[in-house]
Amino acid sequence: MAESTQRLEIVTPEKKVFTGDVNFVVVPGELGELGFLPNHAPLMSALKIGIVRVQQEGKSFKVAVSGGFVEVRGNRVTILADTAERDDEIDRERAERARERAEKRLAEKSPDLDLVRAELALKRALNRLKALQ
Ligand code: ATP
Repeated sequence: MAESTQRLEIVTPEKKVFTGDVNFVVVPGELGELGFLPNHAPLMSALKIGIVRVQQEGKSFKVAVSGGFVEVRGNRVTILADTAERDDEIDRERAERARERAEKRLAEKSPDLDLVRAELALKRALNRLKALQ
């Protein structure tokens, strides 16, 4: 009989964010969303800033990630993320402050603005706020 769960691990350089057996995972692949049911074929992909959606025993939760990699192999999905926070760990006010700071920087257009850095900070903040919706 086909297995109905697969092992999911989400880690960052700082911490292990999640380990568990889950039914379905969707990740923000560099080229679009990738969904994994148990026993998916082996695969590796870069990830962009986005939301990992997890279904586990009829419940679902989201994890905000800011880039990294996913590897699928042997009924195991491993996400190595630059940063990752489960929806229930996200500090909404911190994300709002980060969004305001980044928006202000982008609006000011100061000559020493690091545009890419400011845009990425804004994307991370908006992504965290989206994961809370
Ligand atoms: P900030 O300016 O608020 O630090 P940032 O986008 O620059 O935001 P990151 O460098 O992406 O922050 O993350 C630094 C660490 O803080 C990581 O461990 C990340 O998981 C955590 N983190 C960042 N923002 C939040 C948040 N709103 N809620 C919970 N954890 C957060």
